[in-house]
Amino acid sequence: MAEQNGLKNRGYSRADVEERRTAAEGFTGATLDTVSRYSIDPEGASKNIENMIGTTQIPLGYAGPVRIDGENARGEFLVPLATTEGALVASISRGMSVINSGGGARAAVYSDGMTRAPVLRVEGIAHGRRVMEWIETHRDEIDAAVAGTTSHGRLTGMDVYPNGRSLYLRCVYSTGDAMGMNMATIATEAICRLIERETGAVMISVSGNMCSDKKPAAINMINGRGKTVVAEALIPRDVVEGRLHTTAEAVTETNTRKNLIGSSMAGTLGANAHAANMVAALYIATGQDPAQVVGGSMAITTCEDLGGDLYICVRMPAVEVGTVGGGTRLPCQSEALSMIGCLGAGNARKLSEIVAVTVLAGELSTLAAQAAGHLGKAHAALGR
Ligand code: NAP
Repeated sequence: MAEQNGLKNRGYSRADVEERRTAAEGFTGATLDTVSRYSIDPEGASKNIENMIGTTQIPLGYAGPVRIDGENARGEFLVPLATTEGALVASISRGMSVINSGGGARAAVYSDGMTRAPVLRVEGIAHGRRVMEWIETHRDEIDAAVAGTTSHGRLTGMDVYPNGRSLYLRCVYSTGDAMGMNMATIATEAICRLIERETGAVMISVSGNMCSDKKPAAINMINGRGKTVVAEALIPRDVVEGRLHTTAEAVTETNTRKNLIGSSMAGTLGANAHAANMVAALYIATGQDPAQVVGGSMAITTCEDLGGDLYICVRMPAVEVGTVGGGTRLPCQSEALSMIGCLGAGNARKLSEIVAVTVLAGELSTLAAQAAGHLGKAHAALGR
């Protein structure tokens, strides 16, 4: 193979990809004809993957349009979704259509901060105290270290968690319109090098797992990570009965016994029917980091029967999305972002509200289907 070391794969050409794929075919005995047919420029993907041998195609569809009156997303949106699960797009579309019949969804972003939490080794409690005091009294120098690594990132908070000879710093950053994980990691490393020089503490890992990235974590559930977003809708009684063939009372009971009590019995982080489905399909379509579906899956869905009308709400504490950087610069993903007016600077919070409303629609449709006893029938008809 031309390059074995991913770090040497920057800026490879189509010929490099061809050579590598041919070698992979030889090694594995597999025929990679479909993998070899793609339209994107490998040069442009070189910051997103090493050892590229082609592309994987995932069917792309849309749900909606859905009407959103959010603090950041306003208007009607046709939402791009990439999935291999039959019935998912149809179900989300049904939810969106029902939400529209109730006047649309509302959404808001309540907090916005990407985290990185390094672990430092200290000598013990006394040294740890001195390091904590230094951190507390040298914020200007810490901010300057951050500013030396990014023009868009800014340190907005830093919580310190001492544990004997380990000291965990949970650094929180505003990251503009980037999801911010590279930005936060690079800035945090600069902070740690400064602390090492000034205090004698030793950075053991720039990520001490209290961040917590790509792992379900109560700290993110409670404090948030990325964007904490809430979306809600009110579905009038006649729509619940006429379109969803159920009642607000039945949907509320299903939500309580399934999402709230059942999730509590299972010990899940979050309490929802299938938030991960909507998050994964939208993240893949728009170039988000698919592993961060973990954070997106921790939604809490609540339903209330308001005199026969159905109130439904999702709270998502960790929507880790961006509209610049990462996978958003790839051509298919950029096009998908442009479908919802979210390509480029100024759009990250808007995108997070669209994520939450898409989750709301999927939750509504699935809960209603289960309340009406229709779920198995829909999957049998559409997915098999
Ligand atoms: P990035 O593409 O590494 O950085 C964003 C870049 O966009 C920065 O160079 C930033 O400039 C620039 N930028 C231009 N306009 C901006 C704006 N309006 N707002 C914010 N930035 C703007 O992206 P990232 O979001 O930091 O990191 C995302 C990537 O990290 C994904 O590919 C993800 O898979 C990966 N990831 C990394 C880790 C890790 O530990 N490193 C963990 C999980 C995921 P400035 O730098 O000058 O601000």
